[in-house]
Amino acid sequence: MSDRPAKRTRVLPVDPRHPDPEAVAEAARIIRAGGLVAFPTETVYGLGANALDAGAVRRIFVAKARPADDPLIVHIDDVETLARLVAEMPPQAEMLARHFWPGPLTLVVPRAPRVPDEVTAGGPTVAVRMPAHPVALALIRAAASPIAAPSANRFGHISPTRAEDVLSDLAGRIDLILDGGPTPVGVESTVLSLVAPVPTILRPGGVSREALEALLGEVRLAQQAADEAALSPGTRPSHYAPRTPMRLYRGSDAAVRAALRQAALEAHRRGEKVALLVAEEDVPALRDLPAVLRAPGSLHDPEGVARRLFATLRALDRAGVDRILARDFGTRGLALAVRDRLTRAAGGDVVEVGS
Ligand code: AMP
Ligand code: MG
Repeated sequence: MSDRPAKRTRVLPVDPRHPDPEAVAEAARIIRAGGLVAFPTETVYGLGANALDAGAVRRIFVAKARPADDPLIVHIDDVETLARLVAEMPPQAEMLARHFWPGPLTLVVPRAPRVPDEVTAGGPTVAVRMPAHPVALALIRAAASPIAAPSANRFGHISPTRAEDVLSDLAGRIDLILDGGPTPVGVESTVLSLVAPVPTILRPGGVSREALEALLGEVRLAQQAADEAALSPGTRPSHYAPRTPMRLYRGSDAAVRAALRQAALEAHRRGEKVALLVAEEDVPALRDLPAVLRAPGSLHDPEGVARRLFATLRALDRAGVDRILARDFGTRGLALAVRDRLTRAAGGDVVEVGS
């Protein structure tokens, strides 16, 4: 890489429930010295730097090859720290933090002057959350500073849910990976803006829209308008994407299965290799096809699908196929986040097949 001298990336195993204090202390030393540490959260692996050290935060952008206009989430280890990062606390912020933290909800709030421009992409707001993972919390505590951390992948690529995924994207570009095993939620946090007149989901994620509505009443879901893509750049239409071209099929189970069958057979006739990303319930109907078949979970278990989604996409990306054909899993609970990620992985190539 011309943009960064290669360094040795160490991997330290840590017990996800009772992280070894020495491994955490070593990681915290690197953070305090301005270095980069990848660590597990309950959603995906994050690539952390001291959030109040502008130089350290800039290194995140270099390591990920991430454009500087894409702001980072600041991770904290208690609700009280939120007040130190916020200019003016929106009315619902404290209540949401007390209800959902630690957990996969990121709150976008007016930013305090001490938060560096590098973190907020120069904008007037900052995104903050308290992760529900013992390793992440221990690291923030030991570093004695908030930690800015986007997902620990190359920009635009699939977020990592295992230490080996971090290594395959960022080896030689970061100092250390704390390996706490696979992450339990598997998709990124829900990003909720509290600066809009109505609380607005900028990115669906680990906290469901239903759970937010139960507490807040009306919650808006940001549409893909260009202005909102600028508000929350993680919502660019192509993101979380495998290198293999992908298409997403939406519709009734029967219509989706018929469309997948036809598309797989046509591709086969053209001499193309395809992979199908389906639900467990689809497997009996599709297993005879000349295609790589992978099911991250059941239609009745959106949490399970979310947990295995990114590892499944990475496996299909390595399967040597010309095209990935995926099915939609609906919108209930975490399925909304799964739909969002699959739509972006497909770069917006979505086919409606009737319902
Ligand atoms: P990542 O953790 O890699 O998914 O990246 C963090 C994502 O959080 C960004 O891509 C944005 O979508 C979102 N985000 C971070 N800060 C802000 C902010 N101040 N306003 C809106 N969205 C934000
Ligand atoms: Mg990301």
